Amino acid sequence: MNPVCFFALFLLIVGASPGCGARTELDAWSVTPPSDAGRPDGGAPDAFVPPRPPPPPPPPRDGGVDAGPAEACGRDADCGTGLCRRSPVAAPRDLAPVPLVCGEPDPGASDGERCETARDCDRGLCVLAGTCAAPCVSDDDCAPDHACVDLYARTSVSAAQPYRGCVLPFVPHAGIRLESIDERSETGPFAELILPAADASGSLFLVRSSPRALVIPRTLRQSGVVLFDADTLVPGVLPPLNPVVGFGTVVPMLAPNGSRDVSGVPFELFVSVGSPTELTLRAVRGRAGESRTLDVDVFFVGGGGLRPGAAALPSRLARGFQEAARILAPSGIRFGEVRQHEIPGTLRSRLAFVDSSDLSELFALAAGAGRPSMPVFLVRDISGALGVAGGIPGAWAHPGSETNGIALALDVIFEPDPLIPPLGTVVAHETGHFLGLFHTSEVDGTVVEPLDDTPECGPERDTDGDGWLFPAECVGAGAENIMFWAAQNDGLSPQQAALVGRALLLR
Ligand SMILES: [Zn+2]
Repeated sequence: MNPVCFFALFLLIVGASPGCGARTELDAWSVTPPSDAGRPDGGAPDAFVPPRPPPPPPPPRDGGVDAGPAEACGRDADCGTGLCRRSPVAAPRDLAPVPLVCGEPDPGASDGERCETARDCDRGLCVLAGTCAAPCVSDDDCAPDHACVDLYARTSVSAAQPYRGCVLPFVPHAGIRLESIDERSETGPFAELILPAADASGSLFLVRSSPRALVIPRTLRQSGVVLFDADTLVPGVLPPLNPVVGFGTVVPMLAPNGSRDVSGVPFELFVSVGSPTELTLRAVRGRAGESRTLDVDVFFVGGGGLRPGAAALPSRLARGFQEAARILAPSGIRFGEVRQHEIPGTLRSRLAFVDSSDLSELFALAAGAGRPSMPVFLVRDISGALGVAGGIPGAWAHPGSETNGIALALDVIFEPDPLIPPLGTVVAHETGHFLGLFHTSEVDGTVVEPLDDTPECGPERDTDGDGWLFPAECVGAGAENIMFWAAQNDGLSPQQAALVGRALLLR
């Protein structure tokens, strides 16, 4: 979360918002996860809720008027000897619910296998993230470890149709595991969670609430030391030692995310919950792969007018990733297999212009990716921002999660403006957030991240007194770093490199 907006968030709680969501040219640098981007602008709780889901699947058995003579279904259990599949005779209709009927499978890929078009799958159901997925009504219809979620099937080059299907919600690399730590009902307004000790190699904690129920971290303590206190996030007050990410229905937190040794000691996390909710606490643990390879799933959502390349990324995009790889090279990270997915039809035009309230719907398009990767969404504009990361870090290995991915506003980045950095700089900056890096200093200098070897640019450097620390005011004090809030250069400190290099998403 961008602490600039953090201010706004917590001032909002006490009834004041400094208008964090307002666009300025330099605000475009204020790269934030969906948990805060623009939200304080309106301040209405409704702005915080997840986006509308796709329409429900057709009712089983008795609702098959659009499905022809075959028996309609919502899951395999509705069918006798056959299986539930997309009607082989239905014409593609963009955004219309997929007509599902009982029938026999076609020759083709099975559930969970890769696909590009509907014809690749034996059920005729290829989701936008590129795997075949069986239809379902609830989790009970899915295989163990799978979940029944809202998906879109790609039914033609210009049509995506919603249905509910079974996908793996957590797809880790070998050696990475998910631990369920706590699960309980909370009535609010506050709850305390005990996070067990992090592994020395780093642990990702995920706090999840019910849909529409926000989790807002307030304080984080360890051995009596306050690592984070939301109430100190106002200008002029001592900054937190250990910034925590934003708020939402999925809150990822990385430990350690700073220089302080936090291994071996549990944390106490005190949160606000907006309404009665089910809270779950999980930890992703293990070790990053030795090759430090970051696979990428690129979703083309209209940005830059780009479409997938035949064999490789479009050259403009490929150059951006090459430059980002050069910037991140001190971490040992390299980009690995890149898969390309084009978003068709109305979704492409509607989600090409997003604001914070749309981002979880955008990131949900990665559901069914079927592998641990960094989803990258190429849109045209994100309320003026150049890019946004779903979280600091993202919800690694959770394809479709509202905090798992980054988005790039290609139309803005490609503007011929000397103040706008090259694409590679933005990719590297957002990837840094996604793998756990905060801004070295935030816009007014009162919040700095917890790494010892990154330069800080404090409020005393605001020579023109406008409350903003621009690169020219932070020369030698962070403006050279890729994680400066208005990054124009490509510095990466040894501790930053080490932190991203141990991300549990790397294989
Ligand atoms: Zn940023």
